Amino acid sequence: MQKAGMSGFLHLLYVSAQLSGWEFLTGNKTMCGIVAYVGHQEACPIVIKGLKRLEYRGYDSAGIALMNGEGLKVFKKKGKVAALESELAGRELHATIGMGHTRWATHGEPNDVNAHPHYSFHRKLAIIHNGIIENYAAIKQALLKKGHTFQSETDTEVLGQFIEDIWENNGGTLEEAVRLALQEVVGAYAIVIMNEAEPTQLIAARKGSPLVIGVGENEYFFASDATPIVEYTNDVIYLNDHEIAVVKNGELTVVTLNNDTTTPYVQKVELELAAIEKGGFDHFMLKEIFEQPRSIADSMRGRVNAADAMVQLGGLRDYMDKLAKSKRIVIVGCGTSWHAGLVAEYIFEDLARIPVEVEYASEFRYRNPIIKEGDIVIAISQSGETADTLAAIELAKSKGATIFGVCNVVGSSIARATHAGAYTHAGPEIGVASTKAFTAQVTVLTLMALAAAKRKGTIADSLFRQLLAEMESIPAKVERVLQAADKIKEIAYIFTYARNFIYLGRGLNFPVALEGALKLKEISYIHAEGYPAAEMKHGPIALIDEDMPVVVIATNDSSYEKVVSNIQEVKARKGRVIAITTEGDTNLPGMVDFTIEIPKVHEILMPLISVIPLQLLAYDIAVMRGRNVDQPRNLAKSVTVE
Ligand code: GLU
Repeated sequence: MQKAGMSGFLHLLYVSAQLSGWEFLTGNKTMCGIVAYVGHQEACPIVIKGLKRLEYRGYDSAGIALMNGEGLKVFKKKGKVAALESELAGRELHATIGMGHTRWATHGEPNDVNAHPHYSFHRKLAIIHNGIIENYAAIKQALLKKGHTFQSETDTEVLGQFIEDIWENNGGTLEEAVRLALQEVVGAYAIVIMNEAEPTQLIAARKGSPLVIGVGENEYFFASDATPIVEYTNDVIYLNDHEIAVVKNGELTVVTLNNDTTTPYVQKVELELAAIEKGGFDHFMLKEIFEQPRSIADSMRGRVNAADAMVQLGGLRDYMDKLAKSKRIVIVGCGTSWHAGLVAEYIFEDLARIPVEVEYASEFRYRNPIIKEGDIVIAISQSGETADTLAAIELAKSKGATIFGVCNVVGSSIARATHAGAYTHAGPEIGVASTKAFTAQVTVLTLMALAAAKRKGTIADSLFRQLLAEMESIPAKVERVLQAADKIKEIAYIFTYARNFIYLGRGLNFPVALEGALKLKEISYIHAEGYPAAEMKHGPIALIDEDMPVVVIATNDSSYEKVVSNIQEVKARKGRVIAITTEGDTNLPGMVDFTIEIPKVHEILMPLISVIPLQLLAYDIAVMRGRNVDQPRNLAKSVTVE
């Protein structure tokens, strides 16, 4: 009976819930932190120290669960781990089992209540989770119908309650309930669960988000990476996707979601702490460049399905009609976000046939712009706190426009100030020069344009399907570009001491040229200009001589022939050309000084690929010049002043 009753319950999980405003429906595996300990030492200091070791990942709140004779206690706080520590100060917190979490909000804004750990409905369990549960809304609906109530807005609390509910109704072990629950879950997760009835038990599982188990002398450590573990033990197990680890009475067992027992492989890690804090990369910027196959996939997760010809942005669902019918779109942003807006202008106009204007937020806000009620304003910002963009939103709102936001930080001011929006779900970006946030913005804006075009009927079905299929192939193609990193480094070496750079591109590659030049300026302090390739002859060509490196994005698209002519104009004046070409181009290598090949992709999607070598080139040159790439002079990550 239990099983039949449960499957009736489970079938509801796929009934999607309607949400308006900003969506929390789809998302990513974020990069935040999990630490857990069970053994014979004091758990609290180990967990807190571990959370501090994971601070490099970026997060917005922190929490801890500890268990002793007095039961399962949870403490959590918005802000830094230090704030959580102050909360804990002066309390008697002896426990030999505990777990802690740093949260990067995806479902519900960063505050004390939404922070992890979360209790289950009857408080028998506590759960921490990195990642997202895509079908959480349907599970929540089903639990609400059963009389459950929720403290937080998170998907995590839903999962905790779901597991407890199955456990209570199914009569089996907690481990079994976790397995059954996870079989129903769509999304990405690393989780750890504590059970009030079992003071030596920790249950952990992963799919998509990392989880490492440290094996000590009668003690176990769980963490998102080895950083919090290596000072206690070098023996670690990297849990695989679809595996559940259970520690109880000092014994570790690992089973798969299908209930097959596996023998975990214990390996030695010899890691320097400083290195692993950046995931083995020298700088956050490089780590973030290399994260792009994953972050682009995350920004599409649950939103695109080429097989079903489906594209949906949960947060915009109620506004799609308005978007499709709008007479005009105005995009506002600053810096890299403005470049993402320029890319979107080409795509919206081409596919959805809606006129688009792209404005610097700082200009828009002060120039008495004409905004009408039917206008849609799209505000783009990584942090969601950019002061100029916020002011532009307020101005447009006061004139009756409908405002959408595209930002990375959940619960940010822009997410609150707009009518609706879509998160980019790129995960925390720490390097000041934006890389993965840009590609995530372009991904989300492309999806918006595709959805609007579909709704309006301005896109042929075959092209729509082709673009969705190609979108799904982008992460693998970005991965291929990253394999050219060594070649790009060699080119960077040759131009380390250049004093100026010009970047040229046409069509959708023009904003990419602007972005490439901005990257170089920001972190290497070399003067660089981006231009539409054909515009060069109206002025900047005067700058070309044998000392001028010119980066030309010359991919095999509708403007290829024209760009080749522009390259010849540069070569005729002895400029040194670095061309970004499509794989298999045999024409350009003989004509230019250096080529960097990138995979072929439909030209609408090319910016997602063509920007990658430019990010690497800027990074390498800056490193070779000895610059502080993660914190370049005079720049701030989130520009909250006008
Ligand atoms: N989706 C969860 C939340 O919003 C976890 C986010 C994380 O990975 O930190 O609370």
